[in-house]
Amino acid sequence: MQVEFTEGGPGEYDLVVAFDGIKSAMRRRLFGPGHEPVFSGFGVWRVTFPRPPRSPAATSTRALARNPAFIPLNEREMYMFLVTMEPGQPRHDPARFDVLVRERMAGFTGLPGELRDSITGPEGIVYSPLSEVMLPLPWHRGRVVVLGDAAHACAPHITQGAGMALEDAVVLAELLGTSMPAEHALTALGERRWPRCKLVQDVSHQILLNEMSVTAGSLPAAIKRMRDELALQTARVDVVLNQPALSHERLEVQNASKTFGTAKVLDSVDLQLAPGEIHALIGQNGSGKSTLIKLLSGFHPATRAPASW
Ligand SMILES: Cc1cc2nc3c(=O)[nH]c(=O)nc-3n(C[C@H](O)[C@H](O)[C@H](O)COP(=O)(O)OP(=O)(O)OC[C@H]3O[C@@H](n4cnc5c(N)ncnc54)[C@H](O)[C@@H]3O)c2cc1C
Repeated sequence: MQVEFTEGGPGEYDLVVAFDGIKSAMRRRLFGPGHEPVFSGFGVWRVTFPRPPRSPAATSTRALARNPAFIPLNEREMYMFLVTMEPGQPRHDPARFDVLVRERMAGFTGLPGELRDSITGPEGIVYSPLSEVMLPLPWHRGRVVVLGDAAHACAPHITQGAGMALEDAVVLAELLGTSMPAEHALTALGERRWPRCKLVQDVSHQILLNEMSVTAGSLPAAIKRMRDELALQTARVDVVLNQPALSHERLEVQNASKTFGTAKVLDSVDLQLAPGEIHALIGQNGSGKSTLIKLLSGFHPATRAPASW
């Protein structure tokens, strides 16, 4: 493909991969304007502070539709993220970020109140609207593909967005390393990644809504629900996310052959076994079942390379 760079100069490439973020221009270019980020109704403010001595490891505080949380970065620094309801997706003036954060933290006491009072200017405050994208498959046109937040941006509530983008990259590399033509590899990539990214998006979205809908009246019920259900809900997500994104552990044999004297027992056998799968080898006596197992286990060397795994 011919690529024209805005900074000048053309280039010739076999594949173009766009990780150009939630506002992806490449997504718009490939698939039109129908996939713009959908605003959740909430935004997140991030501020870095000096870390007070004896500050807790990580703290989250709840108030109606205003949830500040504090995360240590190192011995000396911590950062706050404050999730707030932002009706109408306002475009805030960065020069007023300090005023807006202080307003949104009005009424807090303790550590949140102290940190609020220490904010003296807008410098270093970052505001991000919380928006989502779930691009329907396919994520590619020809040999141009959009990945990462450009294809599947989610709320940060299970801290997996960057993880999903990285996984996209390594799974892409894995699929391009097979004998599949590039366009088939891109189709396979989307099919493999979509359910996992959608799960992350759905779970993150639900946590965001649950957290932000707690009121003084519903607080006791919310705490009870967390105690009763959170462990199980987390386990359900972990079952999926603890599965490796890569299928490296797959046993893959290509073109395996075995001859004993003049008897050809196995002739160009291809086989793929994924972890957890159960396969049955079915055939008549003498059809080569046990020879195949012995070849897989290394007991018999293959007669003809390549037999790869
Ligand atoms: C508040 C918050 C907290 C988060 N916390 C976590 C967390 O704890 N863990 C986690 O895994 N994820 C987290 N995420 C999500 C994570 O930040 C994103 O999912 C991740 O950055 C997506 O990576 P990406 O490469 O797809 O896009 P981006 O990181 O957005 O990178 C896209 C890049 O492309 C560049 N670009 C765009 N257009 C062009 C162009 N035309 N030419 C050249 N360059 C271009 C942009 O400048 C940008 O640098 C959080 C997000 C938010 C908002």
